[in-house]
Amino acid sequence: MKNVHPLSVLLPDNVTLIAVSKQQPDERITWALESGLRHFGENRIQEAIRHFRERRALYPDLVLHLIGPLQSNKTAEAVALFDVIHTVDRPKIAQALAAEMQKQRRFLPCFIQVNTGNEPQKSGVTFDELPDFLNLCCMEHGLDITGLMCIPPVNEPPAPHFRALKEAGEKLGLRHFSMGMSDDFSEAITCGATHIRVGSALFGSRGNP
Ligand SMILES: *Cc1c(COP(=O)(O)O)cnc(C)c1O
Repeated sequence: MKNVHPLSVLLPDNVTLIAVSKQQPDERITWALESGLRHFGENRIQEAIRHFRERRALYPDLVLHLIGPLQSNKTAEAVALFDVIHTVDRPKIAQALAAEMQKQRRFLPCFIQVNTGNEPQKSGVTFDELPDFLNLCCMEHGLDITGLMCIPPVNEPPAPHFRALKEAGEKLGLRHFSMGMSDDFSEAITCGATHIRVGSALFGSRGNP
């Protein structure tokens, strides 16, 4: 494992590999950094701080992606630590993020999370809600919405969800698509992913948080 991880060599130039380092032992994160990976995804703020606060100084080109649900009382910490937010999923969070970005003068690119399978337990807006929600985020709150993100239902083929996400985004003039995980990232790339979020296929299985 020298310099660049094999997976990133195989990726097309226009696809960013986000190494999902949640619940991974410290030495694997060190290995990934030494392999040349710079984009990392975390879904909990405290854990992300633990993993990356000190590494920021060592790797100034590090890019940290928040890929988990955000609570409105955690937006200050999230805006201070992360570089990209993938999980803008409801009006309250859009408003809290916008206010916090103004306050910190840190205007981060964001993705809107879409609940492509209309699953009750999953975060994200529906396709029906998406146009109005995008309008709210951009026009009312001034958020920099760069694209869409989804996590397809576990028991369905993911490709139709990926294609629907891309189609909906392109209609709205969005260019980035955060979709595809360890089990389905190659399908996601075929369907137009620009950001894939890969954890266990890169690092091995996860331990405790
Ligand atoms: C954990 C997680 C991933 C990575 O999952 P793997 O199956 O280990 O690749 C990707 N996206 C989100 C939102 C996650 O929570």
